[in-house]
Amino acid sequence: MGSITLDHVNKTFGGHQVIPDISLSIEDGEFVVFVGPSGCGKSTLLRLIAGLEDTTSGTIRLDGVDMTDSPPAKRQLSMVFQSYALYPHMSVYDNIAFPLKMASMDKATADAKVRDAARILNLTDYLDRKPRQLSGGQRQRVAIGRAIVRQPKAFLFDEPLSNLDAALRVNMRLEITELHQQLKTTMIYVTHDQVEAMTMADRIVVLNAGRVEQFGSPLELYRHPANRFVAGFIGSPK
Ligand code: ADP
Ligand code: MG
Repeated sequence: MGSITLDHVNKTFGGHQVIPDISLSIEDGEFVVFVGPSGCGKSTLLRLIAGLEDTTSGTIRLDGVDMTDSPPAKRQLSMVFQSYALYPHMSVYDNIAFPLKMASMDKATADAKVRDAARILNLTDYLDRKPRQLSGGQRQRVAIGRAIVRQPKAFLFDEPLSNLDAALRVNMRLEITELHQQLKTTMIYVTHDQVEAMTMADRIVVLNAGRVEQFGSPLELYRHPANRFVAGFIGSPK
């Protein structure tokens, strides 16, 4: 299970309302993309869901349970950062095992989880390497592996591919979509790239200045954009 509900969520930084009032419901197993121009509040919204920022007001629920005041570690969500967040001095194995070690999991159970994640991500032959000995795509997979081992109810991705070159980005996009089909876990994916949004999402949240302009499937947004902003942003006629 992994439904996420936001109810009148507001976030203010030093008197500046970054998120004035957002309510939305993400269903269990959905792949939802937050898209919008730079500075519109995508990362802030994701960080509120992850618990890395406190809400100013409003409620965030996971499977109907209020988690607004829970610390990040208690939220059963995994945030996937860009691959440069890996520990350079640790092996791939230790990077993936890190969250389990932090949770004091016994070695045998942790080992099984690390090997499972490595198999899913085609990293089995690279477990002894250091991040610098990997390609950009492999490094990004290690970052995803670190999220998978926690068996979260939802994955939160914040522009995970933005430091990869164009060809690799297309590849990783497919890999993340396949991972979603395999795990069937809720995923929220933040990007400023319309193409990524249109090709990956079950549903897209179009954000503009901290407001939801539209929440719908790629086809709905394309055929029936709610306004000129949505039409202009996703490149559909209106
Ligand atoms: P996006 O990810 O869509 O580019 P962000 O969520 O990072 O946008 O930022 C939205 C707005 O909130 C920006 O105006 C940014 O300057 C502001 N902001 C983000 N984090 C902070 C912070 N910790 N303190 C003050 N302002 C912030
Ligand atoms: Mg951002």
